[in-house]
Amino acid sequence: MSYDAIKGQRGLCTGKRTGLGGKCNGQTFRCECGYEGCRQTYDAACSNQAFSAGWRCVKCGAVGKVQALNFENRIGA
Ligand SMILES: [Zn+2]
Ligand SMILES: [Zn+2]
Repeated sequence: MSYDAIKGQRGLCTGKRTGLGGKCNGQTFRCECGYEGCRQTYDAACSNQAFSAGWRCVKCGAVGKVQALNFENRIGA
């Protein structure tokens, strides 16, 4: 399996961008509440969005409780 395939499976957002309708492929993050998704500069920009511009979780509302999944994956923590 190529590195890009692994990255696509475990790293990048699989949601759809609203408006554009295309695949998001954004970097994903996890909140301390367990919710995972990408970060967008405004609310409801992606079907799998977890964080808005100010790092506020769209699910539980916590701010800054974010963990970058892609980097964590690469370091192997
Ligand atoms: Zn997304
Ligand atoms: Zn949360």
